[in-house]
Amino acid sequence: MASLLSKEDFNRFCKAAARPWFSNSRLAKIFGITPVQVMGLISRHGSAIDEYRRPTRIVPDAKERNCLMCRKEFTSEHPGNRICPQCKATAAWGTGEDYSAGGNGGWI
Ligand SMILES: [Zn+2]
Repeated sequence: MASLLSKEDFNRFCKAAARPWFSNSRLAKIFGITPVQVMGLISRHGSAIDEYRRPTRIVPDAKERNCLMCRKEFTSEHPGNRICPQCKATAAWGTGEDYSAGGNGGWI
């Protein structure tokens, strides 16, 4: 069977398939193949697609930031991480008074 996609299209396919918001039917439409062919490509080339997934993960943006509560500098893992570990451990954290306490889902 001839390959469904040119090498260039295949690379684009892997990139798109790595995005969680591209459904199989959307991928099929974009690349002019059927959803079944999309599923076949994904199952056969899962590792190639995973390569594209890696950089899209939340990259730790660690740097020194000042704690919003005690103002001490600490190593913050990402821009939303603005409370030092000591303050997080205090009772004040978790009362919902911090600006980012909502919707973070415990993502640290
Ligand atoms: Zn602090």
